[in-house]
Amino acid sequence: MIQKMKGTYDITDDIGFYQEIEKVIRKVSRLYNVKEIRTPHFENRELFHRSVGEHSDIVSKETYDFEDRGGRVNTLRPEGTAGIVRALIENKLYADPRVPLKRYYIGSMFRYERPQKGRFREFRQFGAESFGSSHPSQDGEMIDYAMNVLRALKLKNVRVHINSLGGTASKSAYKDALKAHIEPHLETLCRECQIRFETNPLRMLDCKKDKDKDVLKTAPRTFDYLNEDDSAHFEALKRYLDAMKISYTVDHSLVRGLDYYTHTVFELQVSEALLGQQNAICGGGRYNTLVEDLDGPPTPAFGFAFGIERLIVALKENGFTPPSPSLHAYFIIMGDEAREKAMGLMHRLRTGGITCDADFTKRSMKAQFKQSARHNARFAVIIGEEEVAQNTLNLKDQREATEDTIPMNDLYITLMERLTRNTNGSCKDCSEKGDSQ
Ligand code: AMP
Repeated sequence: MIQKMKGTYDITDDIGFYQEIEKVIRKVSRLYNVKEIRTPHFENRELFHRSVGEHSDIVSKETYDFEDRGGRVNTLRPEGTAGIVRALIENKLYADPRVPLKRYYIGSMFRYERPQKGRFREFRQFGAESFGSSHPSQDGEMIDYAMNVLRALKLKNVRVHINSLGGTASKSAYKDALKAHIEPHLETLCRECQIRFETNPLRMLDCKKDKDKDVLKTAPRTFDYLNEDDSAHFEALKRYLDAMKISYTVDHSLVRGLDYYTHTVFELQVSEALLGQQNAICGGGRYNTLVEDLDGPPTPAFGFAFGIERLIVALKENGFTPPSPSLHAYFIIMGDEAREKAMGLMHRLRTGGITCDADFTKRSMKAQFKQSARHNARFAVIIGEEEVAQNTLNLKDQREATEDTIPMNDLYITLMERLTRNTNGSCKDCSEKGDSQ
């Protein structure tokens, strides 16, 4: 038997969580006037080398690269931002006068990581990007948007961690200071940090292995290297968060693993008891130079990404259960003629927005009733030879425990009337208002 690949999984029982989360994302995104964008699952490998950064963990160790039959080198997307920036430039979306341009995405990302709790090789992200504003209120709005998705899902005890890396000049001055501080103690750090020292020094600061070592605890902070403009940006962001009543922690060790961030970086974290070290369910920040680095016009930007699997773990711990779909009606069919009538009736009900199903394997009446219960159907619609002869059917309300014989032609209107009783004319389980024939 062929088995699924390591680090991947099938979404079966949890599908309701994904659907509910996606529904909430689309609803909240609408509130913030953010539209959806869908970009390819694979891109030219160079795109990720030039954006996420050659020396980031993601690109140096974790990408799925493959050469296609035409000799092109493809990479399965490890994150969403690079593809969207490429699409922004290639489709000249930056020329849209409706600035800032805000887009969200939901989809699979691929990283060759060691699978563990909350860490997979194919995982799903919901992310969003805003292009065209360098103003700190844009940072604030995006953090509020991310938090509002969690609020709408009723996820409690989420902490907002923020930090500033400063603009390009401050970030580079800081990197030099950090390296000067660490160099005399380099051999006390893990092997990975020794490599990061040369390639991606900021990443040493959020190394899980070395985080308690004195040399890192006493390291200079990005914060101390911010220039006046960078500091003003960060202070303004804090005021906007206060205005939106979002409490936050300024976390100087927060640097994020991707090269492209400048100024604000942030994470939304749940307790470590829920997800261990993988307790960041969302991360993001400002990236003011990436569009230009990828040959687009200078365009400031801000983005974030949620890990949907981690979000689901946190939601489950919070007691969240997605609504379980139930059927309005289940047909109990005895005989070939009855089946013909039932096919017509089911078509009519479904066209009018009533959910229904039947047994398509010609089982006994008792077995069909059992199926009806398994599907949690409110009504059983029973049609046998006698009903066909009299052009009637037997309608059993399994919730109210009532039973009636009604004309076949009245089925739709009767069900609609009973399903919408006390609900102002709209069926609470239907997405649409019932049309009454
Ligand atoms: P990143 O793109 O690394 O900033 O990650 C953004 C979010 O995606 C994280 O906060 C996680 O919630 C999630 N994430 C990252 N890597 C994985 C993975 N391998 N498996 C599951 N979720 C992940």
